[in-house]
Amino acid sequence: MSELKYQYLFGPVPSRRLGRSLGVDIVPLKTCTQNCIYCQLGKDALQTLDRKEYAPIEAVLKELKTKIASGLEADFITISGSGEPTLHSSLGRLISDIRAVTEIQVAVITNGTLLSRPDVRADCCKADVVLPSLDAGDTETFQKMNHPHPDLDFEQFVDGLIRLRSEYAGQIWLEVFFCEGVNTTIQAISNLKTRIEQIRPDKIQVNTSVRPVVHPEAARVEPKRLISIASQLGEQAEIIADFSRHIGATTQTVDLNIILETLRRRPCSLDDLCAGLGLSKEQLEPALIKLEALSKIITEEKGQKKYYKPL
Ligand code: SF4
Repeated sequence: MSELKYQYLFGPVPSRRLGRSLGVDIVPLKTCTQNCIYCQLGKDALQTLDRKEYAPIEAVLKELKTKIASGLEADFITISGSGEPTLHSSLGRLISDIRAVTEIQVAVITNGTLLSRPDVRADCCKADVVLPSLDAGDTETFQKMNHPHPDLDFEQFVDGLIRLRSEYAGQIWLEVFFCEGVNTTIQAISNLKTRIEQIRPDKIQVNTSVRPVVHPEAARVEPKRLISIASQLGEQAEIIADFSRHIGATTQTVDLNIILETLRRRPCSLDDLCAGLGLSKEQLEPALIKLEALSKIITEEKGQKKYYKPL
């Protein structure tokens, strides 16, 4: 039987943050509360703060039930897609209904700006993981990075994230996107760190532009510098930018000292090292074996992952 065409679902696709993820798209293309300089959905956003039923929820649920009944295998059902999903007024109902038909975990990827609203927080609290964004620690940088809707207030936005933490027992994985020269000054990073400490996310996921973006000011932060920035943000910070596909990794030689220097800042998994250093697994694995043989590094199991650290 040929694969059914879905209007609101995509995937499952492999996701660096969520494993095998089935995407659920519940707002029209680039319907958003912001217009970030690094957005990959084009330059023009339909900017709004109005919560409403952008996609008919019954139709979304029908597709989801069909997909699940067809034997869906995924680590997460992820509500995200081509705009800001918390703008959808039936987000909470959607999550409850997904929970009623599957054990697969539910994640919400959001820019977080509407979390100052109690109804949006209540909806997001139904998910297993909420992945909000915060790219600035002050109003000026917020304006430069995210071009928010004129009625959005930075302090209220951060307050919403802090409130979510106190009301929500699930996981919060905060994404922080860096553009060189825009939010990478010493002061900007320090301001961000202060805010992140108030929000207390379970993970800090550091990203930068590795794909083409429409704004020239959304310049990529180079891997070594991103590692340094991540280490300033706290121990739970990890790099999720995938440089390996974008900077000709195969032409690079593997510098053992750079690997050691990186591991001295914090233990890393193979995936972390690949992302941070812009190298493939094939390039890094022999280098790690060599460093182990030289008794320069050891491995440690955490969760179900292997981490490398200096001896
Ligand atoms: S929040 Fe996401 S969808 Fe909205 S403008 Fe920023 S990057 Fe694009």
